[in-house]
Parts: sequence; structure tokens; C-alpha cells
Amino acid sequence: PKMKVLVIFGGESGEHEVSLVSAASVIQALDKEKYEILTVGITKKGQWYWGIDPQTWKLNNGTVSSHDVQVTLVTDPANPRFIPVSGNTLPGDGKFDLIFPVLHGPKGEDGTIQGLFEIAGVPYVGSGVLGGALGMDKDRMKAVFAQAGLPIVPHITVLKNQIDNDPDSIRTKVMTELSFPVFVKPANLGSSVGITKVSRESDLGQALKLAAAYDDKVVIEQGVKAREIELAVLGNETPQATVPGEIIPCKEFYDYEAKYIDDSKLIIPAQLNKKTVNKLQEYAVTVFQAVDASGLGRVDFFVTDTEEIFVNEINTLPGFTNISMYPKLWEATGVSYPELLNRLIRLGLERFHRLN
Ligand code: ADP
Ligand code: MG
Ligand code: MG
Repeated sequence: PKMKVLVIFGGESGEHEVSLVSAASVIQALDKEKYEILTVGITKKGQWYWGIDPQTWKLNNGTVSSHDVQVTLVTDPANPRFIPVSGNTLPGDGKFDLIFPVLHGPKGEDGTIQGLFEIAGVPYVGSGVLGGALGMDKDRMKAVFAQAGLPIVPHITVLKNQIDNDPDSIRTKVMTELSFPVFVKPANLGSSVGITKVSRESDLGQALKLAAAYDDKVVIEQGVKAREIELAVLGNETPQATVPGEIIPCKEFYDYEAKYIDDSKLIIPAQLNKKTVNKLQEYAVTVFQAVDASGLGRVDFFVTDTEEIFVNEINTLPGFTNISMYPKLWEATGVSYPELLNRLIRLGLERFHRLN
């Protein structure tokens, strides 16, 4: 019998649409000889629906029809399955062998849904609770990077409460410890949502307010003039890193539009000294292990003209369309997109059986 892979996508985060595009690519590339594919779509309001086609959902802007069956994951490790929420019936028994989360951002990538999968006793692709959480919180992520001896840019973390009540002390701290431009970011988000590049003091207040609208915690980072280099990592206990790829943003920085609307360019492999490449690969694996990631992760760096390296972040569920950096890097390293999916599924099962 074929393995039943349940792809789950959509979600409440600002990256809902990106997730639909990634999910459509994953579903298309999964080997239909090996896998029976089931789907659950999560609406922007957080309701789960059975048998959704991500492509159709994207076209009709996530409108749920009266035939769609709302479902819930049963928390019964002896018999994990989805069941309909109200009077409806499912076409099938709602059972599956593994969940493939193709979700980005909060409540998808940050360990929260992974916690539900753990409680329900199901194997799933990717990082667990801790890896997801550390990969989403830019403040805590930097703390573990620093502890692992990884190079990071100088930064300050402030709380929303401080932004509201004591902005002057934040301004003073920025002026003494950092220099413009700085990047102001909500601690827990992705896709550049809520991030501002601030080039002068008078723009700081507004940037802090914007970031604080997305999160209670805000990170203010030293801006660096550097190339953006990314490596893909795959594995559980013995992770492997790919060749580096370079992003050429079509805008001033790699913001939401540059990522998904305009065509920023990917250069694979990035042109760098051999020594720098080796260092990047070593760092990428260290980053992956420092945050306790599993399965997959894309590690993003800043590399200056003199090839000084700073670790920017890890994304534990990176963009996964067939033209995204993560699968492209593996392709360039000799692993095709369908084979990459096979390996991720195997790694998810391997982790589950090791821990259960
Ligand atoms: P996200 O998790 O939303 O992708 P990032 O921290 O990667 O957030 O920031 C998004 C983009 O902003 C980066 O890809 C880069 O273009 C720019 N950026 C962020 N921080 C810095 C920095 N310290 N110096 C220079 N550019 C930065
Ligand atoms: Mg990110
Ligand atoms: Mg990023």
C-alpha cells in the first residue's frame, strides 16, 4: 500500500499565500507511485478543512464552500486521525501516515502546530517544538547563536511596553550602541513583514511602532552592507549543507515584495572563495544544531566585500516552491526536488521512531 502523506498548508500568518504556492509545488512533485496524498487547508482564521486544493484556494482567495468539511486532528496517539467537526462525514477514514507541514511563520513554523502533532502522536516533516520556536524568535535565536560562538551583528532587543512608555531610553541606547542604518524587526515573524530599514534617528519611532504592532518583542539590528548568502541544510543528527546561493534583491533590501512579487535573482552557486564556502557550510550546520532543528532548514548569512561572515537567521520551514532557494540549492548539490521530498519524509519518520 502507498504511504499516506497529509500535506497541511495555509494558516493564520501573513505568509498564508506563500504557503499555498509552496504546497501546490510539493503536492505536484510528490511521487504518486509511492504516496497517496491527502490535504488539509487552514484558513486565515485558523479553521481546518479537508481535501483542499491549494491552487484553487489561492485563486478563490480561500473561500470555503458549503461542501468543504471542517476537520480536527484527534489527540489519540493510538489512533491518530482527522474527524469532521460537525454533522459532516469525511470521504475516507481520515487516517494518514505522516503530516507534511507546508506552513510559514507563526503557528506553522514556530513549534506551535508541531506541539499539537506531538500530542496527537503523529510523525511529521521538519523541526520539533524547540527548533521551530528558536528559529522563529530572532532575539532568542541570536542568543543561542552567540552561545555557539557564531558571528552575529550587534543588536538590541526591546519590549512593546518599553516602546510605548520609554522611547527616549531606546533612542539613547541605539545612538550609543549602534549606528545608522539599523533594521527594526518584530522578533517573531518572517517574509520581512513589519521590518523597516531606518537611516536616521527621526524615523526610528515609527519603525518601532510598526514592528510592535506585530509582536510584543522587537529587535533593532546594526545594518550591514553585505551580500545575502543562503545555504540549505538537510538531515537529523548528521545534517549536511549545500553549496551557497546568493540573493540579488531587486529593491533596497529583501522585503516582502522583493521576495514574492518582483523578481529578485538567485545565483547558484554564489561566487565566493573556497575558504569562505567551507566556513559557511560549517556555520550552517552549527546553526542548525544550535537551534535544535531537524529535517530541513535554510540558513541565511550576510557576507561583506572582504568576505566577513555574519549569521542572519535560520528558517525551519523555508519557501518551498520549485523555484525557491531551498530546493534549488539541493538541486545544484545533486538532489532533485522529488528526491528531496522523499528524504524529508524519511527523516520525519526516522525522528518519530527514534523519539517514540
Ligand atoms: P525575515 O525573517 O522576515 O526574512 P530577516 O531578518 O531575514 O527577516 O530580514 C529580512 C531582510 O532584511 C534580509 O533578507 C535583508 O535584506 C534585510 N536585513 C535584515 N537585517 C539586516 C541587517 N542587519 N543588515 C542588512 N540588511 C538586513
Ligand atoms: Mg525568517
Ligand atoms: Mg530572512
